[in-house]
Formats: sequence, C-alpha cells, structure tokens
Amino acid sequence: MSNLFSNLQLVISNSADGVLAVVLSPSCAACERLLEHPTRGPVCPPCWASILPLTPPLCDQCGDPLPTWRAISVPLARCPRCRRARRFVDRARAIGTYDGALRAVVHALKYQGRRSLARPLARLMRVRGADLLEGATCVVPIPLHASRRRQRGFNQAQDLACLLQRPVVPAVRRVRATATQTDLPAAQRHRNVRDAFAVTRAAASLVGAVVVLVDDVSTTGATMEAAARVLKEAGVKEVRALTAARVVGSR
Ligand SMILES: [Zn+2]
Ligand SMILES: [Zn+2]
Repeated sequence: MSNLFSNLQLVISNSADGVLAVVLSPSCAACERLLEHPTRGPVCPPCWASILPLTPPLCDQCGDPLPTWRAISVPLARCPRCRRARRFVDRARAIGTYDGALRAVVHALKYQGRRSLARPLARLMRVRGADLLEGATCVVPIPLHASRRRQRGFNQAQDLACLLQRPVVPAVRRVRATATQTDLPAAQRHRNVRDAFAVTRAAASLVGAVVVLVDDVSTTGATMEAAARVLKEAGVKEVRALTAARVVGSR
C-alpha cells in the first residue's frame, strides 16, 4: 500500500513537472535551458554540479586562493594582504568563486526574488563552511539598510543565515546607507562601508562568543571587516565570515 502510494506520488510529481513544463516552460535560473524537472527547483542539476569549491591552498584568514608553493613552506598559510594588515575577520570561507552558475544563482535569489534558492545555497554553505560553523555560538546576517530592505522585500543574507542550523542573532545593524559594493572600484569599497555598522542590543549576549557573519557575496571583504570590527569592539572573541560566493582577485 505504501509502495503504491509512493508510486502514485511519483506519478503525480512527474506529471506535475510535465504540466509545469508545458504551461510555463520554466528554464533554469542559471543557464536558461528548459528544466526537465521544474518541481525540483529553479536551477538544473548540471548547473549545481558545476559549482566547484575554491581549490586549496587557501589563505587561512580571508579564504583567497594562495600560490601552491607558499602553503608548502608556511605552516599558517596567509596571503600577503592578511599578513600586512590587521584583520577583524579571523577566518573566511565561501562555497566558490562569484562566477558561472553560482553568480547566476545568487543573482536570481537577490534580484529576481527567487527565495527558494536560499535553501540549496545554504546547504552548500553548510557543507563547504562546515569547519567555520563548527564550534560557532551563532550566525549573524549582514543587514541591509532599511530603505533597500523595503525595496527588495527581504534580506538574502538573513534567508541564508536562517538555514545554517545555528542560532541567528541580529547583532549588527546598518547606521548608514551605502552604495552597492559591486558598483565601486576596489579602492573605494573600504571607505564606502567604514562606519556603516553598529551593534544592536542583542550583541550584549555575545561577549566572548564565536560568531559567523553571513552574506551572499564577499567582494573585497570590506563589508565583513566593517561588521567584524564593531562586533570585536563589543567583546566578541572570534569573528568568522561565511558567504555563498566570493570575488577572487579583485583587491
Ligand atoms: Zn542550468
Ligand atoms: Zn588572506
């Protein structure tokens, strides 16, 4: 009986795909080819499979790829930039680089309001950011400024953070609207987000905590640094940064 039921479900689900395919002809949000199984989500399996992890060796601190020879000779592998400057983010990781299917998926989530994509993205973040989430007290989404949040209707970072299976603490707020980081040349990005954040009252519970900041894309890491700074000043012990994608080589 249960077998019959699951067969029936399969038939219904398959025919729902068929009906959807005929009625809507939905195409993959990343590659735009027609979806064979539209009920399984807006991105086709080959596109998901094409999202590769960043290839080690990576900088222990910011997560940027390192030239191979450096990792062999240096026990704590850090990129030149992280060795030069004091960083507030202790460790950063992403699913992969901000290009190809991953870029298309993030775009569809953020700008086309395909919020159902947050779930599979967060699943990949949990897998590829497992060592970052390990031992973390909570996750903290990077907030949008109120005006942008109203315009978009949701905050994609919040959607992702809520699916990482850790307590979500809204410990950071925007005190200043900023230009979109991706629209700015690298040199202006740090200035753009400096003083953009303050902690909320919820941060009082995070003294001595290990916090994972969550966002969709990290461009130069400037946003994460600015948010990490206010958290550290509020007494957070360690700040890690987990994003769906990161732009590599833009700084
Ligand atoms: Zn596709
Ligand atoms: Zn680095």
